[in-house]
Amino acid sequence: MGDESLTPLAALEEIAYLLERERASRYRSKAFRAAAAAITGLTDDQLRDAASLRRRKGIGDSSFTVIQQALEGRVPDYLAQLREAAGDEAPKAGSGLRAKLRGDLHSHSEWSDGLTPIDAMVEAARGLGHEYLALTDHSPRLRVANGLSPDRLRTQLGVVADINAAGPPGFTLLTGIEVDILEDGALDQEPDLLGELDVVVASAHSKLRMERAPMTRRLVAAASHPQTDVLGHVTGRLVEGSRGTRPPSTFDAKAVFEACAAHGVAVEINSRPERQDPPDDLVGIAVRAGCLFSIDSDAHAPGQLSLLDYGAERASRLGVPAERIVTTWPLERLRAWTGRTRDAGGSEGF
Ligand SMILES: [Zn+2]
Ligand SMILES: [Zn+2]
Repeated sequence: MGDESLTPLAALEEIAYLLERERASRYRSKAFRAAAAAITGLTDDQLRDAASLRRRKGIGDSSFTVIQQALEGRVPDYLAQLREAAGDEAPKAGSGLRAKLRGDLHSHSEWSDGLTPIDAMVEAARGLGHEYLALTDHSPRLRVANGLSPDRLRTQLGVVADINAAGPPGFTLLTGIEVDILEDGALDQEPDLLGELDVVVASAHSKLRMERAPMTRRLVAAASHPQTDVLGHVTGRLVEGSRGTRPPSTFDAKAVFEACAAHGVAVEINSRPERQDPPDDLVGIAVRAGCLFSIDSDAHAPGQLSLLDYGAERASRLGVPAERIVTTWPLERLRAWTGRTRDAGGSEGF
C-alpha cells in the first residue's frame, strides 16, 4: 500500500520513528536519523553508487542495507520487522477516544533533552493529524536535561513564532515549558516569562521521596500557581523500562486534585508506557474531584508522539469523560483555557 513510492529517505525516517516509539536506545534511532540526514538531497543514481555511499559519514551497515532494499523497490526487511512489531503492540480499545484527540501539550526537542530539532517534532505531529502541539522543554534547574535559561527560552519563542509563520495553516506549535516544581512548590522560571507562554506544564523531577505532608503542600502550591495549566506526571513513578522502576510519590491525592479542579488546572495523563501516571486509582480520585485532564505524550523524539494511543486507552478504560479532556478541544477553546489566568486572574470553570 503505497510502498512502491517508499524512498530510501522515507524508509530511514520511518525506521527511526518506529524505534523511537518503542523507546529503543537513543543511539539506535539516532543512527537512522543521521543516515537520513546523510542522504538528504541525493538522487537515486547517487545512492546506487554503492562505493561512494559506503564512504559517506552517517551510513553504517544497517542503513546501507535499508537504502539498497528501498532502491530495489521493496520494503526493507528491517522496516517490515518494525512495522509488524508496532502493529502487534498497538492498543485498540482506546481508538474511539484517540480519534477525538486534537493535539498534545507536552513534548521536548533537542533544546533540552529531546532527540531532534523542533521541526522534526512538528512534522511528526502534523503527520499524526494533530491541530496543535505544545513545545515544553525543561526549565533551568534541570541541568541534566539541559534546561532552558530565561534567555534561551526567549530565543526559542522567536523560533516557534517563525515556524508558525512559515508553516502551512491548520497546525499550530504552541509555546510552552515543562517547569520544575521546586521543593517549596514554587516554579523554576521567571513569572513574567511563564505568563508569556501558551502552555505551562508543572512537574516534579527531584526529591520525589519527600514526606507525605510537605509533598502535598508542594503539589497543591504548584496546582494553585496562577500560571500552571497542566500538572505533569504527578506521582513520578516508573513502572517499566530501561531507567528501572520507581515508586510513586506519596501525597494527599484528594487535596492535590481538588486544588487542580479549583484552579482549572488539567491533570496530565502521561502516555509513556513506563510512566502510566497517574496510577488508575488516582485517575479515579481526579475524576471524582471534577478535574480537567490532558492526555500527553511527553515525547522526546518524533516517534514518541504516537504514544498518545496508550494514554487514550487508559483514559477510556478508566472512564474519563472526553469533554473534560482539554486535548479533545479545538484550538480556540484550548487557548481560551490556557489564557484564563492572563485575562481573568483565576479559574472560570472551563
Ligand atoms: Zn517530566
Ligand atoms: Zn517531559
